[in-house]
Amino acid sequence: MRTAVLVLVMCCLLTALTRTIRPIASQSIEFQFQEAPAGHHRTMASAVIQALRDNNISTVVFDIDYTATRVHSQGICLNDLDPEAVEEYERVAHRLPFIPGRVSAWLDSISPDFVELVPQLVHEGFNVAIATFGDDDYNKDLLMRHWSICGMKMLNTLFSRHLPADVVEQLYVVAFAPFLHGSNAMNKNYHLDKIMAHFDVSSRGSVILIDDSMPNITNAQANGFRAHFVDNSVAFTMAPFLAALR
Ligand SMILES: [Mg+2]
Repeated sequence: MRTAVLVLVMCCLLTALTRTIRPIASQSIEFQFQEAPAGHHRTMASAVIQALRDNNISTVVFDIDYTATRVHSQGICLNDLDPEAVEEYERVAHRLPFIPGRVSAWLDSISPDFVELVPQLVHEGFNVAIATFGDDDYNKDLLMRHWSICGMKMLNTLFSRHLPADVVEQLYVVAFAPFLHGSNAMNKNYHLDKIMAHFDVSSRGSVILIDDSMPNITNAQANGFRAHFVDNSVAFTMAPFLAALR
């Protein structure tokens, strides 16, 4: 009888103890999980901004595919935001040689560090620009125009989904593929000159291109621009950018 009472008392104590401990433990884990990354990013972005100032850089230019996003758009994406377009595309896809990426996969692959840093750059007074080969002219084909989006429409879909409206307004975008306009230039120098003119920047050394394409990087550097090479398997991250600036 005494043993039974003892077991009952121990069970009650254990139940009470578990109920007390469990909420405290879960609150503590939740707190650490949510707070640590935000603090880390704030610190890292502030350090990047200071390093840019130390290097006299006023204008930061981002490539899009494999830099701002981890998935490559190939210049044009099947518009799965419009279910009717997908249905029709899939009905006749076997007759088409072109298999584009889907908009959603591309949109969802945006670099969290790009999303974190760009608004802070804009709010701190930096000129922020986009230099991409994602040209409106990829969609000249009437059939593809129905099923796909590209160029400014595709870029605006990306920006409006991930960046605040006041930041998007401040971005200057050059979406231009030289090879679609009779040029064989495989670099971003046309984009960079347009960006300088737009922001009225006089020194190429105060402009930095962030890009995953080595020809874009070396051609920019050969013309006096600064450039930072991005690993295309991870897209843009702040840590290697900061290390390169220091
Ligand atoms: Mg790229």
